[in-house]
Amino acid sequence: MNEPTLILIKPDGLVKSLTGNVLTRLSETKLEIVAAKMVKVSDALAREHYESLKDKPFFGELIKYLKGELHNRCKVMAMVYYGEGAIAKVREIAGVTNPEEANSVSIRGQYGRITTKGVYENVIHASSNLQDAQREIKLWFRPDEIIVDLYPTKKVSKNTDEKVWA
Ligand code: UDP
Ligand code: MG
Repeated sequence: MNEPTLILIKPDGLVKSLTGNVLTRLSETKLEIVAAKMVKVSDALAREHYESLKDKPFFGELIKYLKGELHNRCKVMAMVYYGEGAIAKVREIAGVTNPEEANSVSIRGQYGRITTKGVYENVIHASSNLQDAQREIKLWFRPDEIIVDLYPTKKVSKNTDEKVWA
């Protein structure tokens, strides 16, 4: 069954100019890229993304990391990959969470590090399971930013100002 997974190239990956390398490694999966964009990560978005880790001692540093405050690079690249077994295929190439334990040919094993403050700077985020993928994709993308229909949508009328090209 085709499934989607959210991938983020975290600020350390961008600062180290690893975007090309990461995309090349991910292309081994033969999955389809169905959404991609650069995102300036707000405090609220970072906290919501890592909501399940909010009681961990490293949560504060983790939020700073995702927001780019540890790298002076306040953006991440967000993508949705889609296809058969996408979640497991991407996690396999990403490697395990701790970059020192990750297989040395995985993305995290190759390019990650542990900071002196104990944060695992592991270059990419990849969804862990179907529920996480759904929650995360809905957090990072609007329906019209994804080129396949993943989840049910609804129409709402909004009376807000929208920025358009001048
Ligand atoms: N993390 C960390 N120290 C830990 C565990 C996690 O710095 O002991 C960071 C790391 O950047 C990781 C993120 O928190 O990618 C989210 O943790 P999770 O357990 O969800 O790992 P993942 O799903 O990213 O492999
Ligand atoms: Mg996780």
